Amino acid sequence: MPATVAKSPPKYPPVRNYIGGQFVPPKAPLLEVLNPADGTLLSQVPLSTEGELDAAVRAAREALPGWSGRTIKDRVQVFYRYRSLLERDFASLAALITEEHGKTRSEAEAEVAKAIELTEFACSLPQIVTGEVLEVSRGVECRTDRLPVGVVASIAPFNFPNMVPHWTIPNAIALGNCLVLKPSELVPLSAGRIAELLAEAGLPDGVFSVVHGGRAVVEAIGDHPGISAVTFVGSTRVAQAVYRRATANLKRALALGGAKNHLLVLPDADLEMTSSNVVASMAGCTGQRCMAASVMVAVGGTDHIVRRLVEHARAVVPGENLGPVISGEAKERIERYVTEAEQAGATLLLDGRNTVVPGREGGFYVGPTVLDHVRPDMAIAREEVFGPVLAIVRAGDVDQALAIENASAYGNAASVFTESGGLARYVTERASAGMVGVNVGVPVPREPFSFGGWNDSKFGVGDITGHGSIEFWTRTRKTTTKWNREAGTNWMS
Ligand code: NAD
Repeated sequence: MPATVAKSPPKYPPVRNYIGGQFVPPKAPLLEVLNPADGTLLSQVPLSTEGELDAAVRAAREALPGWSGRTIKDRVQVFYRYRSLLERDFASLAALITEEHGKTRSEAEAEVAKAIELTEFACSLPQIVTGEVLEVSRGVECRTDRLPVGVVASIAPFNFPNMVPHWTIPNAIALGNCLVLKPSELVPLSAGRIAELLAEAGLPDGVFSVVHGGRAVVEAIGDHPGISAVTFVGSTRVAQAVYRRATANLKRALALGGAKNHLLVLPDADLEMTSSNVVASMAGCTGQRCMAASVMVAVGGTDHIVRRLVEHARAVVPGENLGPVISGEAKERIERYVTEAEQAGATLLLDGRNTVVPGREGGFYVGPTVLDHVRPDMAIAREEVFGPVLAIVRAGDVDQALAIENASAYGNAASVFTESGGLARYVTERASAGMVGVNVGVPVPREPFSFGGWNDSKFGVGDITGHGSIEFWTRTRKTTTKWNREAGTNWMS
């Protein structure tokens, strides 16, 4: 494991919670935040507990009547302004993501661009969430309105410090809720900038809060009686625990978990498009994406594609167009999976272990790694690795490949690479995943389409973004009205 250079003073002062429109000096014990590119100390983050959470929930409950009482057309004006601020600060927001997370500048810019797209969807909500009205019998009218759920919480993972918070912030708040964000303690800095920009855009105090910390504050979110709905994005183990706790406390919950995405490559697949897309999917964001390619199922005569993708993978250079992984522990875990697979008989085509970037010896780098002839029962083929590692499993035909994909406990994404429309359809209809792609390595549905997987990749009903999120962030009021007295009473009204 690389040495951690954590003894120099932190670059930034300790991160503060943002409660009731104020940044609050930390009271809780502090945890070090490292720059993963060189291991230096970036900042410190408070490990808040239920006391700090309670202050945020109280501020949110105070703000709720005023905020939810506005019309949605009025509420989204904040997000029109906020969108312009994201554009204005595009470069500095991306630079901060790179600093705390390690991803390359272009990956960080893509993250901010996606945050802008998510904000644009929220701006369009007034056109989408119109209610319904119908005269159900003469003079009797039924009407449905969408109202906010109340005070809600959003718990985020480390891998998208800016984008994943935007999966929930704009939609939940535009729909009239007050939201408490719990960022990952590994990447807590971007959340403060989001709070500042929302305030500058005119969001009233208390509508948005940030409470930093780890397990203790997440458990307090699950227990707090003032919080009505909880979303979570992170690993499956924690997703299950958060979902169980929140629903046991009778809250609405949606918990997105880990992934093990399979790309099925058929022999007729376009050589260049397939080999470059597979590598971009497995190495992009250093493989730390829940949509990353993890297993490539090579069907039949695909050696020429395997050879070409290794060439593409060799062009991915740590410290140049490949960022570090998040921590020394992550580097160790990823390299252990590779070592164990090799010991179990897999063929190492490209080995990214023991990577050191000159001048950044304290960074947590793993180079692109490709293993061939991985067996489906090996840990590297079944468990989430979350690094720039591709496990190639060989299959004789499409049905065998589908059986391998279907056997995964996860179900976030799956893709097929082929020139045959019929085979593509055969695979997309049978893959056990919530998001499927054809000749696309990272099949993320863009707005207004909703994001969300199946199986152990998601617990709860509905999706977290797009149209799917509207149901989660609102409850409906059904009003029945009668204005024709002369109709008297009938069997229904
Ligand atoms: P994580 O589960 O370790 O942490 C996620 C959040 O939970 C963090 O805010 C963390 O502070 C908190 N947490 C950690 N341990 C906890 C515990 N024991 N009890 C309560 N809270 C706890 O995930 P991570 O390492 O930050 O993120 C990577 C994971 O997230 C991967 O598994 C990845 O696939 C997944 N992910 C999934 C999606 C998706 O859409 N399905 C999107 C992004 C990331």
